[in-house]
Amino acid sequence: MLLATDLDGTFLAGDTEERHQLYQLIARHPDIQLVFVTGRGLETVLPLLSDPSIPQPDYIICDVGATVCDGHTRQAVQPLQSQIEGRWPGEQAVAAAMERFPELERQATPQERRCSYFCRAGDVTEEVHRVAAELDCEVLFSANTYLDILPKGVNKGSTLKAFIDSQKIDTEQVLVAGDTINDLSLFSFGFKGVCVGNSEPALLEQTKGLARVLHAHRTGCGGILEALAHFGFLGPEGVAALGTPDYKPGKSDMVIVYHRLPYEETVVKGTVKRQRHQSPNGILPTLLSFFEKDAKGNAQHGAWIAWSVKDPKIKNFETHTTVDVDRYPNLIASRVALTKSDVDIFYKSFSKEAFWPLLHTFWERARFREDHWQVYLKVNQKFAEAAAAEAAENAIIWIHDYNLWMVPAFLREMRPDVRIAFFHHTYFPSADIFNVVPWRRAIVGSLLQCDYVGFHIPRQVENFVDVVRGVMPIRVLERQSCAPRFLTYGCAMGLDEVTSVIESNGRRVHIGANPVGVNIERINEILRSDKTQAQMAELRTQLKGLRLILSVERLDYTKGILEKMQAYERLLAENPELHRKITLISICVPAAREMTIYRSLQTQIEQVVGRINGRFAQVGWQPVQFFFRSFPFEEVVAYYAMADVMWITPLRDGLNLVAKEFAAAQGITSGRGVLVLSEFAGAAAELKGALLTNPHDHNDLVSSIYLGITMGRAESEDRLRTMYDIVRYNDIRHWSREFLEAVEQASTKPSSAAQPNEAA
Ligand code: UDP
Repeated sequence: MLLATDLDGTFLAGDTEERHQLYQLIARHPDIQLVFVTGRGLETVLPLLSDPSIPQPDYIICDVGATVCDGHTRQAVQPLQSQIEGRWPGEQAVAAAMERFPELERQATPQERRCSYFCRAGDVTEEVHRVAAELDCEVLFSANTYLDILPKGVNKGSTLKAFIDSQKIDTEQVLVAGDTINDLSLFSFGFKGVCVGNSEPALLEQTKGLARVLHAHRTGCGGILEALAHFGFLGPEGVAALGTPDYKPGKSDMVIVYHRLPYEETVVKGTVKRQRHQSPNGILPTLLSFFEKDAKGNAQHGAWIAWSVKDPKIKNFETHTTVDVDRYPNLIASRVALTKSDVDIFYKSFSKEAFWPLLHTFWERARFREDHWQVYLKVNQKFAEAAAAEAAENAIIWIHDYNLWMVPAFLREMRPDVRIAFFHHTYFPSADIFNVVPWRRAIVGSLLQCDYVGFHIPRQVENFVDVVRGVMPIRVLERQSCAPRFLTYGCAMGLDEVTSVIESNGRRVHIGANPVGVNIERINEILRSDKTQAQMAELRTQLKGLRLILSVERLDYTKGILEKMQAYERLLAENPELHRKITLISICVPAAREMTIYRSLQTQIEQVVGRINGRFAQVGWQPVQFFFRSFPFEEVVAYYAMADVMWITPLRDGLNLVAKEFAAAQGITSGRGVLVLSEFAGAAAELKGALLTNPHDHNDLVSSIYLGITMGRAESEDRLRTMYDIVRYNDIRHWSREFLEAVEQASTKPSSAAQPNEAA
């Protein structure tokens, strides 16, 4: 069959459950052809095509019948479109002729091959009809408000009829649906039709004698479902054949969807061995803590969805495993089986080569491949299926980071009942950059299926809103002040106000800034341990009174390592009095071997380091000590505590945990180390007390590190106290608590807003 339906007030309206039921029915019946027939212009239909919860139309008839195109390719349907175009005198001619009616206000919405005005009933005068006739145009007045000047003979019904004839579709298999007088023409060609509940009285009046038109009771999609049953579409069982949604709720009240498993897996002689993560800093222990036993021995039911390589040598792939029965008795891990090639594409190659550079604003480095995107989609769908299978009714499903952007789209369709939360761990750029992504509409459509989307800092939230606005119309429902929690005008990443609730396509999405914190207890424990104490003492001896500048980061072009080294070289060249007084220890964690893109950066850094040491070293003094390897977290913490200056210079960074870890280690040991931090790191917006620097400005890099090294005791102590107060309070537990509170709040406020009921 073919369903030709009006949008606003009809296909986009009705009870939420009935909308879902009709959309599911269409999704599951590929033999149903769907045609949107709308008064909207094509540009305002596009946002609906980005919404994964709305079925995609095969064809779109828009501009009240003046535009007709393929729903997938958006190519005009020919020769129909040319025939309409041939009858249109052109926008300028019509607009100029209509200027003699100053009481008509031109509508400020996209429109093609028609001119649309706001108008009162009394203003549709004989003169208006005469002018339109002179232009050889049609006048359409609807909802007592809208006036359209259209090409002669063009309306929704005439274009639909011409289309159906041209496609040789059996007219008996057509159902038309509408709700306003604008849709009257759809009912004028003898198709079976439905005026959905709450239709405009004038439409009901004019269609009341028509035998093949049903006046439905239920509104919107409910009315269409009523008509499908009434006319016996979809076989003897009709709509009932759809049955109930085919998901069965699982047992988990909380589902974590994360790319990594909560334990490490290694394959030894064909069997999978499991062990705790070697270096469990970061967020894993915090997320796991949700599933810990309480004092009474009760624990939350949960699932952790992550990928695992399905090695063909291993016969029985375990899809479900426990994590730690003693500590987390009700937590299971659901392993999404991926082939090695899928992992290489999805995780190592595509995510790192396409999205990582783009997200960090290095868009020229991004390489997009459609075949890789297809793998990405497949993997995301598997994650969504696994999460849908575990989630209990109304569960919270918490998805992490850009590798899993498309999970909400798949998940929402499978589980309309659950609460979907997403945390974006990486930087999120503005629309100027993000719009380069070929699949941006799909990604935005997916993220808007969430109840709550969290980022580190307000700037990233606002960038996201900026991107959404370029894909679909939104209403900002709530905004909040960023101060005093975040910097406003004080750094490149600062912002005075941030959006907290938006509404789009009838859905409300809450968004917010929740910067990840550090695990203060663990850093404290490490610092108190004998081993760390011994390491610190040894370091102190080795440094022999030199002031230590410390730099810790992964090898990545986003981290500004080269810029830092070049600035250090100039610092030494311009300030010989610093020779033999300072040393720079740089810990640079290498990228995985297969990440070839990092090789040339490594060579460049090594060259500058070699040049600095060659140029300035003296017997018994090495200006830079460069470690190109990863240190255990415990050792890094010992370095933090011993550093006089921590020098962090990313060109762009989602947050930068190192900055916070340094502030924590110094604070715990009552130190007075200075943090020289790039104002392009997310942490800069939060860490008042840091000495901010612009790594894109060579002069500023040199002067700020000089200031850091020479800062007086009182100031460095004050600054550290401020920073420590922030990192201690906003620690990792605070982060997870605050995030989940925001999710709860998002789901207590209504997530589904009323549908706009436009006359079109
Ligand atoms: N880190 C580590 N060993 C090292 C260097 C770094 O354990 O040799 C840790 C560091 O303590 C921090 C993390 O790696 O927890 C890096 O996080 P950050 O947010 O600074 O940067 P990202 O790598 O996420 O961009």
